[in-house]
Amino acid sequence: MTYHVMTLFPEMMDACLNESIIGRAVKAGHISLDLVNIREFADPGRKGRIDDYPFGGGAGMVMQAGPIDRAYESIRRGLDHDVRVIYVTPQGRVFDQAMAKELASEEDLVFLCGHYEGVDERILEKIVTDNVSIGDYVLTGGELPAMVMIDAISRNVPGVLTNAESGTEESFSDGLLEYPQYTRPADYQGMKVPEILLSGDHAKVAAWRREQSLMRTRQRRPDLLDKQKKACK
Ligand code: SAM
Repeated sequence: MTYHVMTLFPEMMDACLNESIIGRAVKAGHISLDLVNIREFADPGRKGRIDDYPFGGGAGMVMQAGPIDRAYESIRRGLDHDVRVIYVTPQGRVFDQAMAKELASEEDLVFLCGHYEGVDERILEKIVTDNVSIGDYVLTGGELPAMVMIDAISRNVPGVLTNAESGTEESFSDGLLEYPQYTRPADYQGMKVPEILLSGDHAKVAAWRREQSLMRTRQRRPDLLDKQKKACK
């Protein structure tokens, strides 16, 4: 999987995505990052400026179509197949685990990170296949949302997680939140680990975890259970 990211701040992404599990996956070649600096495709004579005033007036600046179009063409030239282009935007469909799984099967993904007031609508109409939001709030730029998505997608790319890390029982894997986890010491400042986890009885542990998952989901995210009920109808 190669992530091609059109951004104004490649250094920001480079710093985050070359650490920890994602950094290890990059080094091992399971995923790769192609960071494309939109400023390098600025109109001639604009000295790297890629934004301009909005037609019709109003606050803020808008990213121009031309530089993004040329940045995208530079990516397209290196590919011999169609590719999904994700514009990260608060106006998109809200990202979730199912989408992370689905996108993990792509060979290449292109991300467009917006800034300022956003992006000229014409280039969005021309190249974007998916508008995706990471939640109902507005951030200053698209780099953090793209990094959030890349992290979540990569965990579903084969080879990225070791067996020990792989999240078959993680939150959302079966529509529920994960059960509580504990590690040593068994007694921390008088707070004891639930007895059953020390029993060595795998069936009982599995049943306890399932029950905890259900309880936790009911308490914290009842909407997930409602969603499952609706899907079963
Ligand atoms: N004026 C835009 C609007 O009202 O929809 C918001 C622009 S925002 C300040 C700048 C950029 O940050 C957006 O173009 C987008 O790429 C990114 N962004 C902000 N919030 C986001 C969110 N919740 N999910 C995904 N991307 C977001």
